[in-house]
Amino acid sequence: MVKPNIVVVGAGINGLVAANYLQRSGCQVHLIERAAKVGGACISATATVGDVSQLYPLGATTLGLMQDFVYEETGLADCLEAYVPEHPKFIHFPGDTNPTLIFSDSAELDAELERKWGEKGDVQAFRDDEAAVVKFLQDGYRRAMPPTVEAANSVLGKTLTELWIKGSARGLMDHYFTSERSKIYMAMTVTESGPVSLDDPYSAFTLPLMDSGSIFGGHYGFVKGGIWRITEELARINSELGVKISLSSTLSEVNTEAGSVTYESEYQTQEAPFDYLVMATDPLTACRLVGTKTEIAETEKQRFRGSSGKLTLMFKNPVQWKHGSDASDSDTPFRFMFSVSDIEEYEKATLRVLDDDVAYEPGYLQIYCEGASMRQLGLNEPFDRLTVFFKNLSLGDGGADLEDVREQVREQLFQYIQNPADCVWDRLLTPKDLKDIFLFPGGNIDHTVLTGGQTYFDRNYSNQPATNFYRFGDLENVYMCGSGTYPCGSVTGTPGYMCSKELMRGLDGQEIGSSNLSTPTRE
Ligand SMILES: Cc1cc2nc3c(=O)[nH]c(=O)nc-3n(C[C@H](O)[C@H](O)[C@H](O)COP(=O)(O)OP(=O)(O)OC[C@H]3O[C@@H](n4cnc5c(N)ncnc54)[C@H](O)[C@@H]3O)c2cc1C
Repeated sequence: MVKPNIVVVGAGINGLVAANYLQRSGCQVHLIERAAKVGGACISATATVGDVSQLYPLGATTLGLMQDFVYEETGLADCLEAYVPEHPKFIHFPGDTNPTLIFSDSAELDAELERKWGEKGDVQAFRDDEAAVVKFLQDGYRRAMPPTVEAANSVLGKTLTELWIKGSARGLMDHYFTSERSKIYMAMTVTESGPVSLDDPYSAFTLPLMDSGSIFGGHYGFVKGGIWRITEELARINSELGVKISLSSTLSEVNTEAGSVTYESEYQTQEAPFDYLVMATDPLTACRLVGTKTEIAETEKQRFRGSSGKLTLMFKNPVQWKHGSDASDSDTPFRFMFSVSDIEEYEKATLRVLDDDVAYEPGYLQIYCEGASMRQLGLNEPFDRLTVFFKNLSLGDGGADLEDVREQVREQLFQYIQNPADCVWDRLLTPKDLKDIFLFPGGNIDHTVLTGGQTYFDRNYSNQPATNFYRFGDLENVYMCGSGTYPCGSVTGTPGYMCSKELMRGLDGQEIGSSNLSTPTRE
C-alpha cells in the first residue's frame, strides 16, 4: 500500500503529537513550522545576568493536562523525568494572617476549608461528581471520540450533564459550596483562558475539563530541565521515526484540490504535495489559509480575547517564603494570591479589562516554584526561578511598556518572600506579547476563549462534526487540531492525538461515527 502523504502545519505540541501518531500509523509526514525551532508556545528563552545565563519557559511552564497514554505512546515517558509537588498548596486572600492549605487528603482539606473559610457545602459530593465527569471525558479522549450532549446525558445522567456541562460556573459552585472563598478558588480555573462571566452557559464545564489530565492524576508538575523538553524530545523522536521537519518555513498558500501547499523557506518558495493536510496552528491562521470567505468571517467573530500575564523572575539565592512548613519540599507547591475576597468583585475584575480602558485589574497571582522543583529533580541551576501567571490584563500594551504593572505584581509577590532583594532579573509578558510572539489570537493562551459556544462539542471547525469532527469545513482532505479544537489548549497534545486517530479511522475505511457521536444539540 502507498503511504499517505500528510503535511502537518505547526510544530507546537499538537502538531508534534499528530505527526508522531500518523507517522507510526504508516503515513509519511512532513511537518512545516514557521519558527526557527519547534515548540510553538512550549519553548525556552534565555535570561542573562552579567555573564551567567539560564533557560526559562517563555510560554507554558507546568505539565498536567496531558493524557498518560500520549506521554507513553509517543515515547516521551522513556526520555523525560517529571516532578509533582506533593506538599499542600498555599492560598492567600487579602488580610489573611496565615494561608489556607489545600491538602490532598479529603478529610484534612474539608476540615481546613471549614475552619479557614467557613465552608459548609458538600465538598465530597463535588469531588465524587467531578470524578465521574472527568472519567467520561477521559474515556472519550482515549477512544478519540469527541463528545455530545446526548452522550453525556446517557453516561452521566441529565442532572450531572445540566450542572457540569451545560450549566454556568456560578450555578455549579452555588450547588456545592457555601463560602465565597471556595467559589473564588474554583472560579480561577473558569476564567483562566480569558474574561469569561461565571454566568455564561457551559462555563461550568471548564472545571472538569482542566482537571481531566491523567499524566499526574489531575495534578500539575514540572519536567526536569523545563517543559520545552517535551516538544524538543518529541521533535527528536519524530525525526528518528522518519518525519521530515522543515523549520523557518511559513505556509503561505494551500491548493486543496491539487493537494499541495506553498511555503516560504529561507527566501525560497517551496511546494509540498499532500494527500491530507493537518492544520495544527491557531484557528485564525488555519482559517485564512484554507477557509472560505464565510468561514473566515465566522471565525473572526469568535471570542479570542485573553487576559493572562506572565512574570518570570530569577533569584540569585533560593526563594525563602514567609509561610512554609518544616517539610523539605515546602518551597515547591503552587501558591495562589488573590486580590479580591468576594465573588462579585472577582467577576467585576475579570470582565473589567474587556473594554481596554484599564491596563490591569488585579484578580490573582498563581506562583509556580519551578526552581525549587528542579532542585527536587537533582538539578542545581545558577538561579532560582519563579513563574507568576496572573490576571487580569487588557490587550493594550506589551510588558516592556507596563512598568507600573510589573512593579505592582512584584510588590504583591514580595509581601510573601523573605529575600526579595535576591531577585536579579524578571520579564513581563502580556496578552499583546503572546499575540506578537506566539501568534495567539487576542493573546489567548488557549487559542480561543473556553466559554459557551466555544467549549465542548462546538470546539471544532467542521461542517459535519457528528461524523468528521476534526475536518476543516467541507474539505475532505484538510483536518484541524490546534488548541482551538476540542478539548482545549495547554501542553496536552490531546487535540493532535484525537485528530490523527479520526484521520486514520477514515483511512482504514472504518465508520467514524459511534454511539458516542451523534448530531450535536444546542438549544
Ligand atoms: C504565557 C503562557 C503560559 C502558558 N502556561 C501554560 C502552562 O503552564 N501549562 C500548560 O499546559 N499550558 C500553558 N499554556 C498554553 C500552552 O502553551 C498552549 O495551549 C499550547 O502550547 C499550544 O499548543 P498548540 O500546538 O496547539 O499551538 P502552538 O504552540 O501555538 O503551535 C502552533 C505552531 O504553528 C506555527 N505556525 C503558525 N502559523 C504558521 C504558518 N503559516 N506556517 C507554519 N507554521 C505556522 C507556529 O509558529 C507554532 O509553532 C501557556 C501559554 C502561554 C502563552
